[in-house]
Amino acid sequence: MRLIFIGPPGSGKGTQAKRLAARYGDPHIATGDMLREAVADDTALGREAAPIMASGALVPDDLMIGIIKDRLAKPDAQRGFILDGFPRTVVQAEKLDTIVDSGPHGPGNGSDPLRVLQLLVPDDVLVKRTVLRRSCPECGAIYHLESAPPQKDMVCDRDGAALIHRPDDNEESVRKRLEAFHRQTLPVATYYKAKGIVREVDGVGPLDEVFERIEKSLA
Ligand code: ADP
Repeated sequence: MRLIFIGPPGSGKGTQAKRLAARYGDPHIATGDMLREAVADDTALGREAAPIMASGALVPDDLMIGIIKDRLAKPDAQRGFILDGFPRTVVQAEKLDTIVDSGPHGPGNGSDPLRVLQLLVPDDVLVKRTVLRRSCPECGAIYHLESAPPQKDMVCDRDGAALIHRPDDNEESVRKRLEAFHRQTLPVATYYKAKGIVREVDGVGPLDEVFERIEKSLA
């Protein structure tokens, strides 16, 4: 499938996008994860992105478009993809249209139509979720200290790595990310709604229930 996930920070889009990718065998392409990897590897991109991300602002469009263009050109993305975190601005969405409409993703080559899934979660729930979120730096598993804690104190259930708290998951930066979401990313949902390809899903509730709603909405 060719799917774009839109959801505010802490809406669970990363967790749900990973599950969908595992279920359907399409690559999960998460720009936030790609940027965090660049930061961890201390690349030129990582050094440029780190302070922007920590503040809760968005990384410049031209950088992000370059990254996604390269990623979508890789062999594993030719049949389908689940995009998580891109596009986050209307400029990115317009550019993605030209990438997807040309080349192997273009119409008439048997690919699934592009679809958009929008997870709806109210702001007050989001701040609480992100501040209590922890993740595994090794495998990317996501935990929540209240609703989905690790079995052993602060280490990953899968590989035992010490869990980390993302530097941008503090209240100030979460509020800034929410503001960026409302101002820059909700217009992306409107852009796709005009094309009639958006399914909205209620993102409040246990992860399994939300996943069921997502699967139903895509069936
Ligand atoms: P969340 O959805 O929880 O905010 P992500 O992991 O998707 O987290 O993104 C983390 C940060 O990475 C964003 O706050 C932003 O700074 C940067 N980022 C990720 N994707 C994009 C994008 N498409 N455009 C601009 N910045 C991005």
